[in-house]
Amino acid sequence: MSTQAIAAVVSDVVAGLLGAGFNGAVRLPGEVEYDEQRRSVIPSVDSRPLLVAEAYSRTDVQAVVRTARDYGAPVAVQATGHGTRVPADGGILLKTTQMTSVLIDPERRIAKVAPGARWGAVLDAARQFGLAPLSGSHRDVGVTGYTLGGGVGWLARKYGFAADSVIRAEVVTADGRTVTASAEHHADLFWAIRGGTGNFGVVTSLEFRLYPVRQVHAGIVYFGIDRAATILRTYRDWTATIPNELSSAVVLTRVPGTEQRAVAIKVMYAGAADVAEHLLKPLFARAGQRLAGELETIEYADAAMGGTPARHLDFLDTLTDEVIDIVTELDDATVEIRNWGGAMANPGPGAGPVGHRQASYSLIIDREVAGLPSSGRTFVNFLGDPGRADTAYDAKDLHRLREVKRAYDPTNFFHLNANIRP
Ligand SMILES: Cc1cc2nc3c(=O)[nH]c(=O)nc-3n(C[C@H](O)[C@H](O)[C@H](O)COP(=O)(O)OP(=O)(O)OC[C@H]3O[C@@H](n4cnc5c(N)ncnc54)[C@H](O)[C@@H]3O)c2cc1C
Repeated sequence: MSTQAIAAVVSDVVAGLLGAGFNGAVRLPGEVEYDEQRRSVIPSVDSRPLLVAEAYSRTDVQAVVRTARDYGAPVAVQATGHGTRVPADGGILLKTTQMTSVLIDPERRIAKVAPGARWGAVLDAARQFGLAPLSGSHRDVGVTGYTLGGGVGWLARKYGFAADSVIRAEVVTADGRTVTASAEHHADLFWAIRGGTGNFGVVTSLEFRLYPVRQVHAGIVYFGIDRAATILRTYRDWTATIPNELSSAVVLTRVPGTEQRAVAIKVMYAGAADVAEHLLKPLFARAGQRLAGELETIEYADAAMGGTPARHLDFLDTLTDEVIDIVTELDDATVEIRNWGGAMANPGPGAGPVGHRQASYSLIIDREVAGLPSSGRTFVNFLGDPGRADTAYDAKDLHRLREVKRAYDPTNFFHLNANIRP
């Protein structure tokens, strides 16, 4: 299409938006705000949408969906850009960044958030009541995108995936309707969005449970890299003995601020310090001399555990000697082996399609590694290649996700995402 033809389409779409009652901000190519708003946290994604529509309300979201349908343009939804891997080229980039409200009901231990809210805002609002959400490794990540993709955080072994704690969502569907999805209403949609990501509509409000966690005993302790194999073998046995309050990961990395390779043991215990120290004794006793780091009792909202970018991602039912041998040979990669299980593997009835719940460990490496055996299982929130979304689900759940997609989005209008085809 020529530049003039594109300009004419953009002008038509803007007129359509205004006619449909859109009251937000429209950002057009050439404007500074267009470039700011289209940015993804993932540097390789260089999105070139027809225009950016910044929504201020649910009505704005509906106007965007309806207008896009009328003009045959796809819609990509973006809150923070932390998970944007599919460029919105030629479509409308719907930004929810301005919709940031966070409401806490301390009596019912429930949070209700708008789609642009980030975890930091929920953590700070909930901590005033001694409550915690099932947030992840970073305060800046968007609550809605994270939760729709399952959401695995440092309280997940105790309380499950963030998606498992959702109790209600307001969704603008592909036909521009707004529906409320819960266990009682649109139960199939409610099931699908709790792990099936943004495939089923634009979530304009999300309600989920909070938990009575004020303080945790947490931190990262570094040990010598020469102990890596011993630590991982001990970790394999030790993780079979610990309670669900204890979450942990072993990371082959460097001591921060130095070039020194080390084994980092990341720990978060949702309970008292003395119990945590007692539980950790068998692991730390085999880990050798501490190089750096310590555990401290801090508010959950301040416990920053960090994560490893997942170039290689897999789930392990057990930590085999073969895997230990291979990863301990990688002297220039960051390797993170995290203990799953607990409540993640035992959701309540009617839980959503978060896949591979029975895995004992996730294995994340910050680069591709040849020769590593792979189960092919993934987790949609950590998926580098959105074209492999299917691998994040069990076969039965994938079949059902497709049925729900056919019911709510038969034309695959929402496809600029980790797509589940109808
Ligand atoms: C630094 C970092 C740390 C992370 N830590 C964790 C972690 O600890 N645990 C974990 O599980 N994941 C983690 N993630 C992954 C993260 O949860 C996903 O990338 C998630 O998609 C981010 O959501 P977002 O809204 O912030 O990103 P965005 O890029 O704004 O959105 C990503 C996708 O979410 C969907 N989406 C967002 N908002 C809506 C909406 N309102 N309605 C419908 N769909 C929507 C869309 O499909 C969109 O493409 C991390 C990512 C980063 C970059």
